[in-house]
Parts: sequence; structure tokens; C-alpha cells
Amino acid sequence: MASQEIEALTQALARLPGLGPRSARRAVLHLMKKREAALTPLLRALEKVNENLSVCATCGNVDTTDPCAICADPRRDARMLCVVEDVPDLWALDRTRLFPGRFHVLGGRLSALDGVRPEDLTIDRLVARIAAGGIDEVVLAMNATLEGQTTAHYVAERIERFPIRLTQLAHGLPVGGELDYLDEGTLAQALRARRPVS
Ligand SMILES: [Zn+2]
Repeated sequence: MASQEIEALTQALARLPGLGPRSARRAVLHLMKKREAALTPLLRALEKVNENLSVCATCGNVDTTDPCAICADPRRDARMLCVVEDVPDLWALDRTRLFPGRFHVLGGRLSALDGVRPEDLTIDRLVARIAAGGIDEVVLAMNATLEGQTTAHYVAERIERFPIRLTQLAHGLPVGGELDYLDEGTLAQALRARRPVS
């Protein structure tokens, strides 16, 4: 039997995505055995992130700075904007290192079932970003789900009046595929073969 403190830590870890009670127990044991090498650095890293955690006011990315590291990077091509449903999609696309531009996080997808309406997403802010000018291409990178594609159609309608090249990820994406779960090769291919929104 472990102490209450250790039990609380185990339960907190077990609630993390991708972990369960068994992995959490193993992680806790590891942290206790490797206090200097694992526990202390983890604690410092958690504290640092917790102190500085912020949502980027420009793109909606989660980072420890606002603007986020992507929006603040002058090497990024400000003329290209990739629209994603949520932060994991942004991170997945950025991991491919193939998209040189910046991002816009909608904060979800339109869903009649879950009662998510256009005004619940950052679509107005996206329109304002494009209206401000300086953007040549907008890539719609919604998930290949029914709701993702409904959202893409709606967004396309809202921004088609602007003089921009409007593209979407190629349909190499498996139907029902969520970006975050795709391997980087498949995702890179979908990005490379992106096509105009019809
Ligand atoms: Zn940002």
C-alpha cells in the first residue's frame, strides 16, 4: 500500500491521455527511484510551463509565450495561413516541417449534435486576419470527418470573397481520419498534394 500522497500522484497521472493506472504506477515508481534524474527535472519543467502557460491571441496555439513561438518566428511565411480545428492538429502539421506559414486554430468544429455554432469558434477572428491583408494562401486542414468537412465548407464560404488562393489537404487522408493520429508521412503527403477548394 502506498501513502496518500503517492496514491494521489498516481491517480493524477492515470487521468492523462494515453496513460492508464498501470502506466501511471510504473511512472511513479520510476520517478521515485530516479529522484535527481527524473523527478526533479520533471517538477521544474511542469512549474515553468504552469507559470507561463498562455493561449496565443493571434492564432490560438497553446504555448508559454504570447504571441506563440510560431507567430513570433520571423522566418515563417506570413503570406500562408493554415486553418486547423484544434491545437493537436497544429502540432501534428508543424511536426511535418513542410508548412512554412502560420496557423489559425478554430477551437473545435461545427457540430449540430454537440451544439457548436460558428460563433463558438474563432471564425470571425480568422476573417479579420485575412481582411487585414498580406495573406496569399489559406490552407483548410480540417479533419476528414463529416463535421470537419462541414466546418471547412462553412469557412470556405466565409472567406471566398477575399483575393486569396484557397486550398485544402489532399484526400489521401483516410475518411474519418483525425490529423493528430496520422503518421507524419501520410500527413506530409496530404499537405504536399493540397488542392484548390472546389
Ligand atoms: Zn500564435
